[in-house]
Parts: sequence; structure tokens; C-alpha cells
Amino acid sequence: MRDNFSEATKKLLADRAGRKCSNPYCRRTTIGPQLGDKGTVNIGEAAHIYAASPGGKRYKEDMTSEQRSSYENGIWMCRTHAALIDRDEKYFTVEMLKSWKEDAEKNAADEIIGQVDEVRKCKFRMNLFYMDFLEDKKILASLNKSRGAMVDESCFPVQNEWEKHLEEISYLIGAELSTSMYRILRELQVFKEIMKKEIDRCAGRRMSDKESLAYCRRADLFKERMEEWLTDEFIESIKFFCDFSKE
Ligand SMILES: [Zn+2]
Repeated sequence: MRDNFSEATKKLLADRAGRKCSNPYCRRTTIGPQLGDKGTVNIGEAAHIYAASPGGKRYKEDMTSEQRSSYENGIWMCRTHAALIDRDEKYFTVEMLKSWKEDAEKNAADEIIGQVDEVRKCKFRMNLFYMDFLEDKKILASLNKSRGAMVDESCFPVQNEWEKHLEEISYLIGAELSTSMYRILRELQVFKEIMKKEIDRCAGRRMSDKESLAYCRRADLFKERMEEWLTDEFIESIKFFCDFSKE
């Protein structure tokens, strides 16, 4: 007496796994066209997590027939792996199979949405950009209070390889925001280099008035630009693409 799955349950298990083997090291497609004919070929199977009959692997006595043949107790696998999990309950535990099933369905969902990985990556990058911009704005505010003070070039955070990262996500955040971000980051980077040169130049000797005047002028321009570009509104528009749910 086996508590077999109904055809509808088998189909549900196959479809929800994207018709691929749920073994994460396999993931082979199990249903496709019959070669040389118009039919289909199925090399997949709905396998039982808790066995369908006494003596089977991972059999659980106190389950009802209904539970044993339910969607919850099934996992879609290719024939090879269906056979394998039915032979070894020490390695293929209930916990392992349940997590395989969950991952397989998650993987199938990601493939349908298509850009899930891209979106996740974009949110991660935007979080970092957002934190940097907040910090940059804070430093600018303190700089305005103590006008003319020399600042350390390391104090304005800018992501390493920001140009590459920004380019990768620009199609998701739109051209307008990408352009604004590019302009600000570029200015930050250029001014950081100027600050570094200034610090190196001043090391060990007094600044000449002419040189220090040139630096102050450039610093004023930098502050002016940042005031105009790095607005609260701009930072809000970045926040829209961030995801702080995991923090
Ligand atoms: Zn497989």
C-alpha cells in the first residue's frame, strides 16, 4: 500500500521546481520535447520526502495517507536523484530535502523574474553609495563651519571602482540619477586628489600665499558645487533604490 501522488500533485511539484531536478548540484531539466516526434519526454519524478509506504526511507508512522501523498511531502527530482534519495536516509535527511525543495522553488522564481539577482546587487551598491553621500554631506557641513581649514583627503568616502559599479546599475536606476551621481562622485574624486597634492606639497614647509590661494579657490568651487548638487532631495532619490531591511 503506497500513498502515491495524484497526477495533479506531481504536476504541481514539477512546475513549482521549474521542471528541474531539485538537487542543487544537478538542476537538470527533466521535461522536454520527444526527439523525432511531437510528444514530450519526462525524466523527472515526484519523490517522497517521508516514504510512501512502511519500510521506505524516512517513513513516518503517524502521518495520514493524505499527508503522505500531499504536495508538502513531495520533491521534484530527476530519475537518478529520485532513486538515490530513496536508498539513503542517513545522508538525504528530511531537513536536507526540505531545504533543497525550498531552494529549487526559489531558484525557479528567480529565473522567472529574471533580474532578481541584478536588482539585489543594485540595492546593495545603492546602500553603499547612500551611506557615503550622507557622510560626505556631514563633512561638508563641518567644513563650512570652519572655513579655510585643511581637511584630510581620506575624509570624503568614495567607493572603490565607483565608475564601474555605477555603470553596472545605471540601467536600473535610470540615466538621470546615474548622471547626477557620476557628476558628484567625479567632483569628489578630483577634489580628493587636489587635497592630497596640497597636503603633500605643504608637508615640511610653509605654503606660499599664491599656492594656498589657488587651493582655497578650488576648495570654494568644490563646496559651491557640492552645495548645489548634493542636496537632501538628491539623497532622498538615492534612498528610494536602497534596501535597509536586512540591517
Ligand atoms: Zn538530478
